[in-house]
Amino acid sequence: MYDYHVHSSFSGDCKYSMEDMVKGALEKNIKYLCFTDHIDYDYGSAEIDFVFDKNDYFNELQKAKSNYKGQIEILSGIELGMQPHLAKNIHEIIALDNFDFIIMSLHTVMGKEMHEGELFKDRDLIDAYFLYYDEMYKVLDNFNDFDVVGHINLIDRYVKHMNNKTVKLEEYKELIEKVLKKIIDKDKGIEINTSGIRYGISSFLPTVEILNLYKELGGEIITIGSDAHNPEHVGFNYREAVELLRTLDFKYITIFKNRKKQFIKIE
Ligand SMILES: [Zn+2]
Ligand SMILES: [Zn+2]
Repeated sequence: MYDYHVHSSFSGDCKYSMEDMVKGALEKNIKYLCFTDHIDYDYGSAEIDFVFDKNDYFNELQKAKSNYKGQIEILSGIELGMQPHLAKNIHEIIALDNFDFIIMSLHTVMGKEMHEGELFKDRDLIDAYFLYYDEMYKVLDNFNDFDVVGHINLIDRYVKHMNNKTVKLEEYKELIEKVLKKIIDKDKGIEINTSGIRYGISSFLPTVEILNLYKELGGEIITIGSDAHNPEHVGFNYREAVELLRTLDFKYITIFKNRKKQFIKIE
């Protein structure tokens, strides 16, 4: 098992230490555990700080690596919250080459965060979808230093702010297709983020529909991550995710080390 999306207390919304999370992973027999703590500049809410100290992070990670040597492979990653205005000069703020793996996520759209529903205020749901994928496209146009896009359809998780109204894929298919093509052209990937099920949308992120579309367009690079914020959720529904990929006729899952991808054959 390869869990490539896990948080620790270096994330503003997680209180468990790296060691707690490693112990959770060992209980599930996970072979590769990649920490992807949040770095989210200009997040759009003053209440939570999504930036960590890189030196502290690497020191702590190094400690965990040596304490659990031979038992589990621990990797260093970030979940980097991106916005178009950050894309061009992010390198002046943080050097990304020392990490094993970078997830690029959109948590904020036009400066408005989605988690508390700011984006959806005074707006039709379909317009929020267009803004979200449009902004993702803009980021992709100006930014290359990442490996996969995180929970690509995250916006689906937040329709609860709109009385659970939903939008059909057909309504924004052209746009999401453009986004997926861009990802494929850049030789980047997406992830299956298994947390969707825990957050009550009864599907992984992305949905089967989007995974099929990605496949149709030639997409092959997919990591699997639980997005765990506590030790019990490490490896959450991993086998189900692999099973789904097999059903959809994907041949490999992808892992990263030193920002280089490796394909693992789905047996
Ligand atoms: Zn996220
Ligand atoms: Zn996350």
